[in-house]
Amino acid sequence: MKQIIRGGRLLDIGRHAAEPADLLVEGDTIREIGPPGMAAPGDAATLDAAGRLLMPGLVNAHTHGHNNLAKSLGDRWTLELLLNAAPWITGHRTLEDKYLSTLIGAVELIRKGCTAAYDLSFELPAPTEEGLEAAGRAYADAGMRAVVAPMMADRTFHRALPGLLDALPADLRREAESVSLPPFEAGLSAWERARAAWPFDRDRVRLALAPTIPHHCSEAFLRAAHRMAAEHEVGFHTHLAESKAQALAGMELYGMTQTAWLDSLGVLDPRFTAAHAVWLDRDDMRRLADAGAAVAHNPGSNARLGNGLAAARALLDAGVRVGIGTDACTCSDNLNMFEAMRIASMVSRVQELDYERWLATEEILDLATRGSAGVLGFDDEIGAIEPGRKADIVFLDLAHVNYVPLNDPVVQIVHGEDGTGVESVMIGGRMVLAGRRMATVDEEKLARDAADAAERLAAVNADARATAERLESAVGRYGLARSREDYHIERHARCTT
Ligand SMILES: [Zn+2]
Repeated sequence: MKQIIRGGRLLDIGRHAAEPADLLVEGDTIREIGPPGMAAPGDAATLDAAGRLLMPGLVNAHTHGHNNLAKSLGDRWTLELLLNAAPWITGHRTLEDKYLSTLIGAVELIRKGCTAAYDLSFELPAPTEEGLEAAGRAYADAGMRAVVAPMMADRTFHRALPGLLDALPADLRREAESVSLPPFEAGLSAWERARAAWPFDRDRVRLALAPTIPHHCSEAFLRAAHRMAAEHEVGFHTHLAESKAQALAGMELYGMTQTAWLDSLGVLDPRFTAAHAVWLDRDDMRRLADAGAAVAHNPGSNARLGNGLAAARALLDAGVRVGIGTDACTCSDNLNMFEAMRIASMVSRVQELDYERWLATEEILDLATRGSAGVLGFDDEIGAIEPGRKADIVFLDLAHVNYVPLNDPVVQIVHGEDGTGVESVMIGGRMVLAGRRMATVDEEKLARDAADAAERLAAVNADARATAERLESAVGRYGLARSREDYHIERHARCTT
């Protein structure tokens, strides 16, 4: 199928411009870009884009589809309190819940201009072939691109952080100690089965691996997961030095930073993505850069959980590949890539006095498109509107007040767009959002199903919630005490009066 998109204005990120241009799309790929009125094949359908600003689909470098049914369940949660709550906010999910939760996120992402996402999905206690297929199916049904990477661990949260068990009252410690996880081999073999049977077009929905947090994983598991990622040529994504407690844990457990330790295991390579990377020092950044590894920068989540300000400029200076992500709706809370870009900009400005070192809006838009595309391993396939790339295009309404008047499209997209200007979204040549209506998902049914699921899950997870709440104060105080310890770099902003 051929389509000619006429009458729109094509965003030029580098020049901060939006000049009139026509686009020829053949199947799922952009074939040609030319001046208004350019010749098109006779059998090409015309798509009127008058009054629209055409920008590449945003790419979310880090999110969690399973958390969408747990949207905004916590308020003043640190990362440690969020992880403490995991059993009740994600427990007792049916296969249909897993599909539904992922679909909610896909709809929100598409509606807010995102066309591809790296989804670190989670199943308690370990991934299953059917669960992975359900997550993949949600993206396929929504018409979105995704990399689905199950989070896996062979050490529980309460055992993973040094000193945390000891910080718990005796009865709660016994309870925390009684929880165990299956051997990592079970999760990896479920992943291999899912990969062998994967029914989706791998141009659209792919699998990757996500040992969740380095110290939640044994050395044997990390090595095995890395071997498997290399064998199948898929991504390896982990949460690295997200909180100060985690950075300190690395030093205590390995006698070096977590990044240095992963480097010593040989798992850093171009397939490796570090989510957050807040508490990285310059040596850590150099190691990632030397390995060709990437960082998923999630500034909204880092702020929401009080983890601190990731040094994005220093990462770029070091030569690390960087993409931008929203993280989950339990910690960011909307999955709005426009907002993630805006926060990335603001965060860079409050941590650097020298305004020339602030992230410029064109840099941020590049990170959220080409940068994130590289993180997902879709490198030259998506992330830009160019001949030969997939036709993943966001149509912004130039009559929307966000663009009235249109002075600088790049600054207005990064600093002013909140998602309300998104009029239509094309993914792989298919309009999945057309005139603000989802073409692929029945949103009324989705809302009903989600309400029913949330109510049922609240009931079946009530005991797990009570347990987590009894643990909450000790876990919170542990994290706070760790935050007050010395570390050789600073990422918290603390104002004095
Ligand atoms: Zn995450």
